[in-house]
Amino acid sequence: MKKKNILFAVSEALPFIKTGGLADVAGTLPYYFDKKKFDVRVILPKYACMKQELKEKLKYKFFTFVDLAWRNQYVGVFEAKINGITFYFIDNEYYFSSDAPYGEIRGDIEKFAYFCRAIFKVLPQLDFKPDLIHCHDWQSALIPVYLKDQFCKEDFYKDTKTLLTIHNLKFQGVYGSDIVEDVLGLSMNYFTEGKIENNGCVNLLKGGLYFADKISTVSETYAEEIRTHEFGEGLNSFVSYREQDLFGIVNGIDYDFFNPETDKAIFENYSLETVKEGKIKNKLALQRELGLFQDENVFTIGIVSRLTDQKGFDLIGAVLDEICQTNIQLIVLGSGENHFEQMFYDLKNRYPDKISITVGYNEELSHKIYAACDGFLMPSRFEPCGLSQLIALRYGTIPIVRKTGGLKDTVIAYSDDEKASNGFSFASYDAYSLIQQIYSAEKLFYENKESWNQLVLRAMKSDSSWNNSAKKYEKIYSQMLK
Ligand code: ADP
Repeated sequence: MKKKNILFAVSEALPFIKTGGLADVAGTLPYYFDKKKFDVRVILPKYACMKQELKEKLKYKFFTFVDLAWRNQYVGVFEAKINGITFYFIDNEYYFSSDAPYGEIRGDIEKFAYFCRAIFKVLPQLDFKPDLIHCHDWQSALIPVYLKDQFCKEDFYKDTKTLLTIHNLKFQGVYGSDIVEDVLGLSMNYFTEGKIENNGCVNLLKGGLYFADKISTVSETYAEEIRTHEFGEGLNSFVSYREQDLFGIVNGIDYDFFNPETDKAIFENYSLETVKEGKIKNKLALQRELGLFQDENVFTIGIVSRLTDQKGFDLIGAVLDEICQTNIQLIVLGSGENHFEQMFYDLKNRYPDKISITVGYNEELSHKIYAACDGFLMPSRFEPCGLSQLIALRYGTIPIVRKTGGLKDTVIAYSDDEKASNGFSFASYDAYSLIQQIYSAEKLFYENKESWNQLVLRAMKSDSSWNNSAKKYEKIYSQMLK
């Protein structure tokens, strides 16, 4: 079979730019495909807010112009090769010079409509003819729309297929109908319920879901959940309409980057053989660094997360006072909604020895937390896949999670199957169920060290690498390109 060209079209990818798990996926999955069968490249915007040392790695290739409705916009193209994978960058200072990748929605819609059109414009000049464009979330969901509307008529794109992966159905790229012609450059014929209209608004994700050849999401459970009213974010009927073309593949993590044996960010490296002592050394060092009371025996729970409703912080808020009555420490790293930050600051005032809160994004500290803690809390309201629990498992840190989406698919509950378990989980979204699981974990940690240590080993042995999932994507690509 001739080698197939796959293009990841994405709004963020490691190591260049990251606001969430999407960047981890787009920046790591491409490395895991069989290079004899697939040439996988990545294209993303060249954001001014990328770190200077990364921007210096990009090589200028050429420039051109692209039409976006009545506009004619500059498109610069840059390239970087990282460990054999080619990353292309679309450059336009008008669109990509703000201090974060995403801002207000009207501006974002225009910049990603531009991004999608620019991709079609530059690929022929790059001489990279995509057999399949793998789109991710609403930011690249216009690609299947533009392909069907216009570009499939060009010889270069006539056989191109599209796969759209939903990383989080909550974000859909929604705006009023005035943008259809003026910004997206589409005819008003597209503004119908079967295409890009939803509840009277333009909905870019829906457009992608309608026109993409196949749709995937990041866990099997989430693929089922999004067909329901509870998780469907207003698109459940539409998702169900395409259920024949919808499948779930759980995300993996980069086993080289997240490796307790070699991780330079943590205080002490450890392996399966040395995890017990290794975690204690990491715990004591992190307690010292964060100004917590140093105690190797205290049950320490970590949180590394966006501080939003989705991640279950209202539930956590409801149980905090009660769990602080027991012998625990809670180490939190996150940023997001102000009131959740404040909630942890208040608690820290009341229990200074037990709580540490660091607001902001800090990769190095996140690794230290994964390595030092005994438990990892993630009681999400919904969770398409979740990477944090996978990282926690890799570091032998026991996830305490809600059974939803990818959390359900990757964490086997101690209460369900003691011998196979790698964590604790609960189904019903309520504070009582959460606290029961925290207490169960705490009890096992303090009262049955032998079982706890076995649980840690099973967690570390859980396979959350990309290998299995990359094979599943390969299979889908192959079916689509037959
Ligand atoms: P999300 O819904 O935010 O994408 P995931 O669990 O899929 O959640 O991925 C979150 C990723 O971002 C993980 O790699 C996690 O370690 C990282 N992360 C989240 N918040 C922070 C933070 N404040 N500092 C450092 N890393 C963070």
